[in-house]
Amino acid sequence: MWKAILAGLIALAPWGGHARAETFPSHPITIVVPFSAGGPSDAMSRILAERMKVKLGETILIENVTGAGGSIGVGRAVRSPPDGYTISFGHLGTHVANGAIYKLGYDLVTDLEPVVLLPSNPMIIVSKNAVPAKNLEELLAWLRSRPTPPTAGTAGAGSGSHIAGLYFEKVTGIKLQYVPYRGTAPAMTDLVAGQIDLIVDQTSNSIAQVRAGTIRAYAVTDSKRVEQASDIPTTDEAGLPGFHMTLWSGLWVPKGTPKEIIAKLNAAAVDALNDPGVRKQLENLGLQLPAPNQLSPEALGTWQKAEIAKWWPMIKAANVKVE
Ligand code: ASP
Repeated sequence: MWKAILAGLIALAPWGGHARAETFPSHPITIVVPFSAGGPSDAMSRILAERMKVKLGETILIENVTGAGGSIGVGRAVRSPPDGYTISFGHLGTHVANGAIYKLGYDLVTDLEPVVLLPSNPMIIVSKNAVPAKNLEELLAWLRSRPTPPTAGTAGAGSGSHIAGLYFEKVTGIKLQYVPYRGTAPAMTDLVAGQIDLIVDQTSNSIAQVRAGTIRAYAVTDSKRVEQASDIPTTDEAGLPGFHMTLWSGLWVPKGTPKEIIAKLNAAAVDALNDPGVRKQLENLGLQLPAPNQLSPEALGTWQKAEIAKWWPMIKAANVKVE
């Protein structure tokens, strides 16, 4: 009897969380990726998880929980126990834009704790091969000549590809008809098959198809070219000066997760980002690694808030309707 009471008191004691943090992790961890398998978010998570498990000494599983621009997967992570075993992978779309588009039922800043900022890349304007345009100017002329709005694949309202499409509409005045998918992996399959006209895609998702010649690339949305695809001009060079957008990613855990556990996850992610093999794989996809002073949980928190301040006005002005 006394033993049971004592055990109960120990479990309730304020240092209980610290004790759990000391033994963390003692079973597999799950990263919830809110988009389809085979897409850019999935690819980055799998590359990092492979290496993070070495440092953490536990398996890391990837769970693709798709739909509603990634907001369903993030919701799943938010509602998980704050014990470090469920990690939310996301990006500018899921952890910034979705807050301006959906009635989320969770707050992207106060219901999550930042863990680490992950690599970023510019977007790339790509079309199906059947589009008869050799450069961005010709593409814009072709899009303008269409009798009905050209179709643009996205990973759902609020996803990176959707925000990039909205931004593209804003700078060109061209109206697009969005075709939402559960990730840009299935959108890319349809672009290659010629079912949709274009995607303003993450470079890391398009680069292999561009190299294989199965789609056409017109410009990357940055002021400098992507080293791994240096024949593709920037938007500044190709005729849309100032159309810049970088899609960054990150990891979060539910609010209330002990600081020590966040520190362990952060250290494992930083270790993975510093690994030469991992860097090579990420760079080969055209991804840029964050600067070393950007890798603390606090740096991601500050960055996320700054991005909310930057993007919400444009997204709210676009008045995106979701069912
Ligand atoms: N990151 C998404 C994916 O993995 C795509 C997007 O945000 O547009 O499919």
